[in-house]
Amino acid sequence: MKRSVLLGVLIAVGALSIAVTGYQGQPPGTRVIDLLKLKDNLYVLTSSTPGNPATFSGGNVAVFITDGGVTLVDTKLAGWGQAVLDKVKSVTSKPVTTIVNTHTHGDHTGNDGFFGTTVEIVAHENTKANMEKMDAFKGDNAKFLPKRTYKDKLTLGSGKDRIDLYYFGAGHTNGDTFVVFPALRVLHTGDMFAWKDAPLCDRNNGGSCVSFPRTLQKVIETIKDVDVVIPGHSPMQTPKDLQEYQRFTADLLSYSIDAMKAGKMVEDAAAAFKVDKYPGYKNERIKGAVQAVYDELKK
Ligand SMILES: [Zn+2]
Repeated sequence: MKRSVLLGVLIAVGALSIAVTGYQGQPPGTRVIDLLKLKDNLYVLTSSTPGNPATFSGGNVAVFITDGGVTLVDTKLAGWGQAVLDKVKSVTSKPVTTIVNTHTHGDHTGNDGFFGTTVEIVAHENTKANMEKMDAFKGDNAKFLPKRTYKDKLTLGSGKDRIDLYYFGAGHTNGDTFVVFPALRVLHTGDMFAWKDAPLCDRNNGGSCVSFPRTLQKVIETIKDVDVVIPGHSPMQTPKDLQEYQRFTADLLSYSIDAMKAGKMVEDAAAAFKVDKYPGYKNERIKGAVQAVYDELKK
């Protein structure tokens, strides 16, 4: 290796390690999450687009202010708890009393422990089982696991404070909760509608790209009185956007099945899939989803 090249490599490695330690050592106060007001008593903590670790705080968090306290839907990445609490305190003096986890992933459950054991944590029963497998909830931290679980549907609160939780089957994981605020006509989908790109189907946590479109179809048939959709990792959407996403996932599934039957390689099949008819859609995650379908159907 030429000296100049070696020097360049050393500088690059040095810069990388400085960048990494600099990020980890960043004081919590410098982490700022953007806040979006949807209604007088419903806000969304955004900064949820993956990519830049300095601004990516985890999935969109709904902040629902009720008479009895604040309910959070998801809690973002570990380390962002104070930043979440700071923003909540900027809009209400009420304490956080309830957390709903849409699913197991660390960018949605990372600060459950930060809010302590006085908070009631609610999740689908499969999500609790998935969380039990995570290092973050092992040993002493098992006390931060959800204490309240459900199977198909669960209602929290009543009247204007009512929250409906629904489970419709496998998709992103095998425990994805859809959260509805009926009085406000708002739906939080978690990562069942994360972005306008192929879904991530986490097969290690029971996810299924084969079931994904069917699960979304049940959502569309069941949850009707909604105007705003809070997605997992992108700006606010409408029910029409969710319907389009369902069609997209169904289209991608049937395309993948046909490609598999035709004996195409995953790379070739993914490269040939056209997202053009879905305006604003990306194709960065198509290959992963096609692979997930192949893996699932391969016997
Ligand atoms: Zn996820």
